[in-house]
Amino acid sequence: MRKSHKATKPQSHKYKGVIERYRQYLPVSSKTPIVTLLEGNTPLIYSCYLSKTLGKNFEVYLKYEGLNPTGSFKDRGMTMAISKACEQKAKAVACASTGNTSASAAAYSVRAGIKCIVLIPKGAIALGKLSQALIHNAQVLAVDGNFDDALSLVREITEKYPIVLVNSLNPYRIEGQKTASFEICDCLGCAPDFQVMPVGNAGNITAYWKGYKLYYAKKKITGLPKMLGFQAAGSAPIVRGHPIKNPETIATAIRIGNPASWKHAEQARDESGGLIDMVSDKEITQAYKILAARDGVFVEPASAASVAGLLKLSGKGYFKQRPRSSTGRTQRVVCILTGHGLKDPDRAIKSIKPPKTVKSNLKAVLKEIGY
Ligand SMILES: *Cc1c(COP(=O)(O)O)cnc(C)c1O
Repeated sequence: MRKSHKATKPQSHKYKGVIERYRQYLPVSSKTPIVTLLEGNTPLIYSCYLSKTLGKNFEVYLKYEGLNPTGSFKDRGMTMAISKACEQKAKAVACASTGNTSASAAAYSVRAGIKCIVLIPKGAIALGKLSQALIHNAQVLAVDGNFDDALSLVREITEKYPIVLVNSLNPYRIEGQKTASFEICDCLGCAPDFQVMPVGNAGNITAYWKGYKLYYAKKKITGLPKMLGFQAAGSAPIVRGHPIKNPETIATAIRIGNPASWKHAEQARDESGGLIDMVSDKEITQAYKILAARDGVFVEPASAASVAGLLKLSGKGYFKQRPRSSTGRTQRVVCILTGHGLKDPDRAIKSIKPPKTVKSNLKAVLKEIGY
């Protein structure tokens, strides 16, 4: 129910996070304690550069999920997972993580006053993410293995002991994450024609597709987007059709060889008439720099996989082949930018020339800047 907007009730204007905003579409009740950091409500930014690249019948928007409280979309799922864990009186949660899940789980566990256990692949997580899990006091264990190894350990532990699993295998994670598709539709006033996104463990593509289908069933939108997912070439199990034993990519958030939601990702692809393809680390780095230098949007490498994918498809003429919609209207493309660039500052510095050192005098500086 919409609350009254009377001036005497300033409280009613306050944003209360994704659960309160989309309560009617989520499995919560009046008994669910809502644990929130006011996640969601992220901007949908028009990209001049990418719109021009695609051509005159297209508009490209960037859903900047890096602006969530812990810097990634994982917060949408975590507010649900931790709220439900509290409802069930859990004392502890655990996850395996390439970094962002642990950052989010650690922060929301602090809000809830419960213990958070994190297993990360040793040496393979970005500095910003590790610092988050540690500063929020999670118990962090670096496993001498990759993400997939860490996930199987956590699955076994949470099956045997009273600890709640908060990876995206936890169905409440998917429920919370689907709110991003509602926001996109509410903002555009319709569903986009295409949605482009990175695919790692494949929970997010599953969540978006579920959200779009629900909005369609509720008649909030009259069409559905084609789902275009991108894996990194060195860790592209879905594209190659088999698990990858030693996945490799600079995009650590999607360095996953055996996605938990594999089947659901294929379902989203097939039902929507979309595709799941891959992009090289070189293409990811290019897109990463383009977003920062052309649109002023700083993302982590995994997020740039969506724009790398968009550029790859555009280069192949994928969008040109699309018939104009029957009304001749502009087609809308949304790229999901899953995490903030500050998560992985090392990568930014490595991909750009370091600053030039100059003498500490006016003449030297003026000479360099061309005045
Ligand atoms: C988790 C994550 C992904 C991958 O999402 P999946 O649901 O695992 O497919 C992509 N980008 C970032 C920044 C992430 O944190």
